[in-house]
Amino acid sequence: MLNTLKRIVQEVSLAPDLDDALSVLVFSLRKAMKTDVCSVYLIDTQKACYVLAATEGLNPKSVGQATLGLSEGLVGQVGLREEPVNVASAASHPKYRYIAETGEERLSAFLGVPIIHHGRVLGVLVVQHAQERGFGQEDEAFLITLSAQLAGVLAHAEAIGFSANGVKKKNVPQVKRIQGIAGSPGIAIGPVVVMYPPADFDSVPDRPPRNIKKEQSKLSAALEAVRQEIKGLQVRHAANLPKEENALFDVYLSILDEDALGGEVAGRITAGNWAQGALKQVITEYARNFELMDDPYLRERAVDIKDLGRRVLARLQEKEPQRSDSDYPEGTILVGEELSTAMIMAVPIEKLSGIVSVTGSSNSHMAIVARALGIPTVVGASHVRLSKLEGQGLIVDGYQGQLILNAPEPIRQHYDEILLEEQQLVQDFETCRELPCEMSDGHAVALWVNTGLMADVVRSKGRGAEGVGLYRTEIPFMARDRFPSEDEQQAIYRKQLEAFAPLPVTMRTLDIGGDKSLPYFPISEENPFLGWRGIRISLDHPEIFLSQIRAMLKASAGLNNLRILLPMISSILELEDARYLIHRAWMELQNEGYSILMPQVGAMIEVPGAVYQAREIAAMVDFISVGSNDLTQYMLAVDRNNPRVAGLYQSFHPAVLCALSDTVKACHEMGKTISVCGEMAGDPAGAALLSAMGYDSLSMSASSLLKVKWALRQLSHGQTKDWLEHVLSLDNAAMAQSYMRIKLGEAGLGGLTRAGK
Ligand code: PEP
Ligand code: MG
Repeated sequence: MLNTLKRIVQEVSLAPDLDDALSVLVFSLRKAMKTDVCSVYLIDTQKACYVLAATEGLNPKSVGQATLGLSEGLVGQVGLREEPVNVASAASHPKYRYIAETGEERLSAFLGVPIIHHGRVLGVLVVQHAQERGFGQEDEAFLITLSAQLAGVLAHAEAIGFSANGVKKKNVPQVKRIQGIAGSPGIAIGPVVVMYPPADFDSVPDRPPRNIKKEQSKLSAALEAVRQEIKGLQVRHAANLPKEENALFDVYLSILDEDALGGEVAGRITAGNWAQGALKQVITEYARNFELMDDPYLRERAVDIKDLGRRVLARLQEKEPQRSDSDYPEGTILVGEELSTAMIMAVPIEKLSGIVSVTGSSNSHMAIVARALGIPTVVGASHVRLSKLEGQGLIVDGYQGQLILNAPEPIRQHYDEILLEEQQLVQDFETCRELPCEMSDGHAVALWVNTGLMADVVRSKGRGAEGVGLYRTEIPFMARDRFPSEDEQQAIYRKQLEAFAPLPVTMRTLDIGGDKSLPYFPISEENPFLGWRGIRISLDHPEIFLSQIRAMLKASAGLNNLRILLPMISSILELEDARYLIHRAWMELQNEGYSILMPQVGAMIEVPGAVYQAREIAAMVDFISVGSNDLTQYMLAVDRNNPRVAGLYQSFHPAVLCALSDTVKACHEMGKTISVCGEMAGDPAGAALLSAMGYDSLSMSASSLLKVKWALRQLSHGQTKDWLEHVLSLDNAAMAQSYMRIKLGEAGLGGLTRAGK
């Protein structure tokens, strides 16, 4: 059963579009279950009904025609109850509804299971039989398992352009809406540039060759290089591999031959695809043929084919020159499977208008950097097919986390209007550029800025930031191929400190691990967010920590505006150790003749344990900064990068708000200042609640500074305290969000809360 299941899922996922996927599904499933009829009904959300989307056994003419209301018939029951319906005699069931055009009158037994993706019913999978005998428990279990596995595939196909009547208009590009997660607010409209990691077939686009001859010779060179590689392996393993296994290398060599795979790829190039795209097509087909074989040994060979393909691809990509700045069109929308901060940084910033990442969530590091740069971003767009996107015009709606492809004129116009509206809002924000962040009743809130890139420094200028609340030192570390030396670090830090002096600059010590990795210091863990990250790495590598602290201290000489911040503190002992090392570095420098003031040292509260020890922690440091991004993640046990649970990541969750409120009280009781430097501080609703709680300062990306200042200046402290009191009495995040949206709307700040942000 398991093999059949795997095979069907494989066949369906390899189908080029939804229609084919469904046809393959009903065909294979009817055969596997030896039943008379197999059908799929999908929900047409616009018409609010089920449409027969594919069938094997019912009248084929009824596909796209036969419909059922959402609560109609046995199919409707399956969807409503979100569980299987299994009856031996369908016609005698009270909910049975006969659909004449399908010709199902001869059928008796009915088994339907829901197709559910991320909690949403997409449709119903049905098998029917003429004999009056119920389907067995095993059939039911099989269908449920299959449906659960296929839901993602079908959701994907649906997202990229299913027309519910089953008819796809040829040559007329269909508008496609792809739902992801809002990563950074704003609207971008522009051409797509797909960025893909090396040797990854999934992200190789089909594209016409610029020069067929050149592509052919690139292919020949790549094939030859891989042949040499294989021959090398054959020789190296001659002694330690059995003869038959070693002979496999000969098979590989013959597959790569010009009149086998090599020849086929060459043919595809001549037919109009570039070498990488042609290779991808051929490898996919070869691998698919092997995967469909019944013999398990031959099936396994698909893995070898893919591996060979990847080796050739790697060679082809080696020869591909890196994109230069001029290769990026104006208004580039950068799209990739798993875009990292470093990948974004490869694009000239003035040409980058939007970002789309297939994986990740709004709190992944890349999204934070995108927000810092003010670039509209959608993450977790798992239904994007990279290979079809290169060069296409795309609308990125960073408010709703939506992508729109082939947008018709009215939609395009709508987004142009939003862009205009945004520009108007930005002009409004500009009016408070020179003004202090004072609420209407005179209450002052200090706004600080979060930095990482030098671009942030430039963008922060003249926006009234009273200091840097969080300088993420890992960002300059990411843009290198090794740890920067102490001198290099000193130069980088000096620039930051100088740029803001005499205002304070809070430098956070290296916070890697979790989703923040350095290419030259890979950390592979089962559970990275609960593993080796932040201060834990620094204390395990005092040589790295000490060199960073020395660089910071030396950089601050004469400026005296450095504050050091320690991330991910989860115990008092960590604080003691870190403070000891900081002191030691400072003493060493004194002994070396430097005259440097001992900087203030602060701790981040980012884990629930630290909330409960806020008093003890505050007693040991000069200031506290709350990392609300991680605190939300750890309070709610929701991975901030996982799109599947993104809906559960709620900064307005009562438990999170309560933790934030308790922490500020504890810290003030100990006479220390406290700020929030997570994303919540840069959201007008979040900023209103945090200032009402009594936070002394809020630190946010440069792109949020004027917006938050503008919003707080229109509100009074008394008003936001009333709101806070009400919000703290609510028992769920959705209520808190919508209450704040209403209140901000009433206060004339509705434009800031589009799509609930
Ligand atoms: C946070 O966790 O809120 C924070 C500011 O740190 P980072 O987002 O860099 O993990
Ligand atoms: Mg953090």
